[in-house]
Amino acid sequence: MAKVKLENVWKRFGKVVAVKDFNLETEDGEFVVFVGPSGCGKTTTLRMIAGLEEISEGRIYIGDRLVNDVPPKDRDIAMVFQNYALYPHMNVYENMAFGLRLRKVPRQEIDRRVREAAQLLQIEHLLNRKPRELSGGQRQRVAMGRAIVREPNVFLMDEPLSNLDAKLRVEMRAEISKLQRRLGVTTIYVTHDQVEAMTLGQRIVVMKDGEIQQVDTPLNLYDFPVNRFVAGFIGSPAMNFLRARVEAEGDAVWLKNTGFSLKANALFGKELKAYNGKEVWLGVRPEHLGLKGWTHIPEKDNVFTGTVEVVEPLGAETEVHVSVGEHRVIARVDGHAPVQPGTKVELLADLDRLHAFDLDTDRTIA
Ligand code: ATP
Repeated sequence: MAKVKLENVWKRFGKVVAVKDFNLETEDGEFVVFVGPSGCGKTTTLRMIAGLEEISEGRIYIGDRLVNDVPPKDRDIAMVFQNYALYPHMNVYENMAFGLRLRKVPRQEIDRRVREAAQLLQIEHLLNRKPRELSGGQRQRVAMGRAIVREPNVFLMDEPLSNLDAKLRVEMRAEISKLQRRLGVTTIYVTHDQVEAMTLGQRIVVMKDGEIQQVDTPLNLYDFPVNRFVAGFIGSPAMNFLRARVEAEGDAVWLKNTGFSLKANALFGKELKAYNGKEVWLGVRPEHLGLKGWTHIPEKDNVFTGTVEVVEPLGAETEVHVSVGEHRVIARVDGHAPVQPGTKVELLADLDRLHAFDLDTDRTIA
C-alpha cells in the first residue's frame, strides 16, 4: 500500500492546458475516483501518475518516493485500461503471467499468484481460453487479474467498465468495490459516470476544464456542493436551477419568480439576506420536490405551480417535467401519482434541501 500525492501538477499540450495546478493526497488504501465531463483532464492526470505522460510542472509522489523521473515499470503501479489490452494469441493464464515473466519472477511464484488471482476473480475455469472465447465481463476480470498478480502498491483504472452493457456494469462495479476492500490497495479510478463515482469512491475528485472543483466524500458532494457545476453534475436527474429574486421582509426571506414564491428557512435565509433585491440561482433536486397530495412534504410557502410537459414512469417513481414560468423543472414523484401531460400541477419543495448560487460566480451561497 502507498499514498499517492500530487503537488502543483500541470500538463500542457502546446497551448492546451489539460491539467491546471492539481493538488491531491490520497490515504493509504483509499479508493479515489476522478470524475468529470469529457476532456476535463482525468485520463491525462492518471497517465501522469502512471508515468505514461510527462508532467509539465509539479511533483508526483508514490509512497515517499518522488517519481517524476521514474519510468512506469518501476513505479509499483498496475493499470487497468478501458479496452483491457489483452494479448489475443495468449490464453488467460499466459495473459496474467506475462508481466511477471518479463520481470523474471520465478515460475512457481508466477503460478501461485495467477491461481490465487483467478480464484479471487472466479475465473479458474477460464485459464486455458483465449480472449476471443470470453464474454465482455470475463475479459474485464482477466484485465483485473493481470493487475492483481503484479501485487502493486497502487491500482490505476481508466474507465474499466465502459465497454460493458448496463447490467454487467452494475455487477462488476460491486465486484471491484468488494475486491478493492479485500485487497486494501490504494486505487485511483477514472470515470465520466457520476453514479459509478458515487458508488465506488471513498472520496471523489470532481474536475472541469483541467481544474479540480471539489474533493469530498460522495454524500458531502451531494449535500454541500461548492458551486453550481458540482451541484449539477452530482445527482441524477440533475438538480434544477431557477433564477429567483431575493426579497427580505423583516426576518422573512423570500425567493420569487413566475410560478413560485418560497419562504427560506432560518439558516438559508440568513445567508441569502445579503442578496436582498438581487437575483440568484435557486437549486432544487428532483427528489426534493413532491406532488401536492402525493408527498410527505407539508405545504407551507413552498409551492411551484406549472404545467406538466412530459411524464416518464419508472415504476416506483415517475419523473415529471413541469414548465414553471420560464423554467423547466424535473420532479421525481410517487409512481402512482396521477399526472397527465398538459395539466396544471402544484409541486411542493422540501425547504430544508434548497441550494442557492451566485449568479456571477456560480459559487454556493447556501
Ligand atoms: P475523456 O473522458 O473524454 O477521456 P478526459 O477527462 O480523460 O476526457 P483528457 O483525455 O485527459 O480528458 O484530455 C484533457 C485535455 O487534453 C483535452 O482537451 C484533450 O483534448 C487534451 N489532450 C489530451 N491528450 C492530448 C495530446 N496527446 N495532445 C494534445 N492534446 C491532448
